[in-house]
Amino acid sequence: MTTGHHLDNRTFHVITFGCQMNKHDSERIVGMLESYGARQVQSVEESEIVIFMTCCVRAAAETRLKGHVASLKNIPLPEGSTLDQRIIAIGGCIGQNEAGALIDELPHVSAVFGTFNLSSVPELLAQALETHSPAVEVLEAADEFPTCLPSHREVPWSAWLPISIGCNNFCTYCIVPYVRGREKSRTLEDITAEAQTLVDQGVKEITLLGQNVNSYGRDLYGEPRFADLLKAVSDTGIERLRFATSHPKDLTDEVIAAFRDLPNVMPALHLPVQSGSNRILDKMNRRYTREHYLGIVNKLREACPNIALSTDIIVGFPGETEQDFQDTYDLIDEIGYHQVFTFIYSPREGTPAAELTQDTPREVIQERFDRLVNLVQAKAYDANQVDVGARIPVLIEGVSKRDSSILAGKSPKNQTVHAPIPEGTDLDELLGTIVEVEVDEAKTWYLKGHII
Ligand code: SF4
Repeated sequence: MTTGHHLDNRTFHVITFGCQMNKHDSERIVGMLESYGARQVQSVEESEIVIFMTCCVRAAAETRLKGHVASLKNIPLPEGSTLDQRIIAIGGCIGQNEAGALIDELPHVSAVFGTFNLSSVPELLAQALETHSPAVEVLEAADEFPTCLPSHREVPWSAWLPISIGCNNFCTYCIVPYVRGREKSRTLEDITAEAQTLVDQGVKEITLLGQNVNSYGRDLYGEPRFADLLKAVSDTGIERLRFATSHPKDLTDEVIAAFRDLPNVMPALHLPVQSGSNRILDKMNRRYTREHYLGIVNKLREACPNIALSTDIIVGFPGETEQDFQDTYDLIDEIGYHQVFTFIYSPREGTPAAELTQDTPREVIQERFDRLVNLVQAKAYDANQVDVGARIPVLIEGVSKRDSSILAGKSPKNQTVHAPIPEGTDLDELLGTIVEVEVDEAKTWYLKGHII
């Protein structure tokens, strides 16, 4: 089969759910399909091929995906298409987890692939186009780190750089180790070389990506080498360096020191705590305590006093008592995060936690959740106030969703910053540049200011 011939000039649209790892995988799919002559379009209506990159971390995502796929049936193909029907492909974690069962449930799906075989996507699509029958390929593990696939970056000034895939931690509620496999790191030289290429191409911000960046390298070098990697990538001269996600149990003093010693490591860290109760942390198999977590927050603030912290919280884990919830509430109150992603627990089939009995009524969980959200907002508002009057460098990413005369960008602390476009300035000239903004007002989720 000549893959290129089947894909040449076909229009495709990628819809991505879930984490940055999925977004990065989507960029690789776009890059690969473009290299076969296919054209990316921005809507389902314009597309002959629709690819869903899915996430199965939350049960609701699966229901949403299935509704979305079903709704495509009623959307006609774009004018001039030579196909009989739109090609629909599902990849990512749901593809990995459900494989061929998806075709049985959603008969108009034409291709399914998993998390380990992105490189097969063009071939699977070409096969579906040629044979008019579903093409399914899901592998159990990757032979090697998929670094040689082309990638199409969403924006030219910012790049995600995967450093490891998979996870060895087996938190009891999480499906990731089952769908992304064991942790596999890329070599330090390989990552640094790619970072250097990105810098040479004019990229301003790199985000190193892994399910748990802190254990980076343990599989390759016998011990984690994330601090060495940070130093090596920092030395490329990148302007802004970020990373996600950090497991608190593996955050070392050397990595904490990087916030103090490496000027391009941005003062923002996402450090998922999940719960403030030691009893629940134990049931989640998180392998740290509330006290350990507070200890690392103190060290981080000593090393980098203005660091902005964010976290994830699961409310209503099976067996969560009022006291357990109160411990979480108090922890959030004490730490004062810039942002907290709050989730109501939902069981994932195939994980140990899914076997636990949920004995807390739904209304009680909802009430706890609402209480927590109120606190999170009040704390985020407070955390932003310290920046009023400050002059901060902002990487301009676009315009505000509500008002196209207002620029939107990111501060070093990863806060969204709004500022009016200065008169006589062209938006395109500002995109991807770092400008100085004086902050006039701080809201819960963004700062307002003006360009100096
Ligand atoms: S660290 Fe825990 S929550 Fe994160 S991916 Fe691994 S198993 Fe899932």
